[in-house]
Amino acid sequence: TPGLYIVATPIGNLGDITLRAIDILRHCDGIACEDTRVTGKLLKHLGISKPMWRYDDHSEHKDRTRLVESMRTRAVALVSDAGTPMVSDPGYRLVNDCRAEGIPVTALPGACAAIAGLALSGLPNDRFLFAGFLPSKDKARREVLEELAAVDATLVFYETAPRLTKSLTAIEASLPNREVAVAREITKLHEEVRRSLPSGLLAYYEANPPKGEIVLLVGPPPESIASEEDADALLIDALRTMKASQAAAQ
Ligand code: SAM
Repeated sequence: TPGLYIVATPIGNLGDITLRAIDILRHCDGIACEDTRVTGKLLKHLGISKPMWRYDDHSEHKDRTRLVESMRTRAVALVSDAGTPMVSDPGYRLVNDCRAEGIPVTALPGACAAIAGLALSGLPNDRFLFAGFLPSKDKARREVLEELAAVDATLVFYETAPRLTKSLTAIEASLPNREVAVAREITKLHEEVRRSLPSGLLAYYEANPPKGEIVLLVGPPPESIASEEDADALLIDALRTMKASQAAAQ
């Protein structure tokens, strides 16, 4: 049926395509994708041939409007180069416009490097914050890390191999006591997960420059900080109660 289908694709191992994804890619009227060459390769592997349109959130407004209008009569799949569309990938403007226009939108979930990295890291995952890519400029990167330092959750970043040691250096400076995990080449031949304090990982990757795709994770603040915060909150509550009862007595 017509509408937008958000389709996750593999992040390395092609076996991670879902049965539903294959079904929709085979039966849709066309595919909006980041890069027609990358998606073309996936389609070829699946033995599917379909019209493809390049889409990103910076595409011109009129192109997006045309695409959305076409979904009144056509089933359009949205894919990114790898993984789940909209996780550090284009798509949200398209979904937003579809919602505004009353076009049906449905999701076909699947591989996502952030979630696979989180699972592989063994870091606490009851609370996590996905923070995309760290900025490439030193000052901006430091500011983001300082802002995130207080968040009581595991932090999940996307990273590139050439920038890993710079990011680890910045993490060592801002968050030296936090466990860090590097999940590299997930689902691929050279999948590797390393976990230690920032200094340990920095020493390792300086000696062994990494290749491939990387998810970088930083564990939550150590227990003592969290309980200090709890203690602060209790103290503030107690003061409030005291003030309230004083006010009532007056
Ligand atoms: N939307 C994708 C997803 O759901 O995973 C992510 C797209 S983002 C532009 C690309 C980044 O994802 C890479 O730089 C890397 O940080 C991460 N990534 C993608 N595939 C990966 C893999 N197989 N192993 C580790 N990280 C991966």
